[in-house]
Amino acid sequence: VSEEKVKHKVEALKLSPVEMEAEIKRLELEAKQLEVEERKANLQDVRERLDERQVKRETAKQLSRTNGATLAQTAAQEKAFQARCNHRKGSMGKDGYANGQGIDQQYAVLKHTFMNGDTWVRCLRCAKTWKPPLEENFYFENGEQVYPPADKFGRLLKPTKGTFAEERYQAAVQEYDAALKFDTRNSPSTSYIFRFSDGGKIFRDVMNNATLR
Ligand SMILES: [Zn+2]
Repeated sequence: VSEEKVKHKVEALKLSPVEMEAEIKRLELEAKQLEVEERKANLQDVRERLDERQVKRETAKQLSRTNGATLAQTAAQEKAFQARCNHRKGSMGKDGYANGQGIDQQYAVLKHTFMNGDTWVRCLRCAKTWKPPLEENFYFENGEQVYPPADKFGRLLKPTKGTFAEERYQAAVQEYDAALKFDTRNSPSTSYIFRFSDGGKIFRDVMNNATLR
C-alpha cells in the first residue's frame, strides 16, 4: 500500500465537527442498544435458570410425595407383620416364618439397657421395639393421636389438645412389662449406666421416635 493511498483514505474518513458529533451520538446509541440487548439476554438467562430451578423443585416435591407414600406403605406392612408376629424363636417352615409364628418357648428378642437405665426389647423377626411408654404419647383427639410438642432440648411437652387415655397408657405399660419378662437366651446388652438428675427423663424424651432397627 502506497503512502499516497493511505493518506487518501485518512482524508476520506475525516469528518466535519457536525458529522463527528452525529457519529458519536450514533455510536453512543448503538452502545446503549447493545447494553439493552445484553441486559435482555441476561434477564432471559436468569429467567431460564429460575424455570429450571422451578422444574427441579417440582420434581423433588413429586419424588418426596412418592417416597412418603412408599414409606407409609412400608410402615403399614411392617405394622401388620408386627401384629401377626408372636416374637418367638423356632420355625414352622416358610409359611410360619412369613407369618411370624415361631414354635419355640424362647423369644426371638434382644434386650438392650441404655445409659439412663431404660431397657428396650426388640423382636429379631419383626423389629417391634418395646420401650417404656411415655404419658405424653397417649393424648388423643377424635381417635387420632395428638403428637407431643418438644422444647429446644428435645424434652416432650404435654399436648395442649386432646385427652389423656389412661387405659391405653396402662395397657402399654403392661405390654412393656411383659416384654421385659420375655424368656430368651440371647444375652442382654448394655451401655455404661449412670444416674441422671432427672431420672433419665430427657434421654427417654429425645429417644421418643427411635427404635432398635
Ligand atoms: Zn416379632
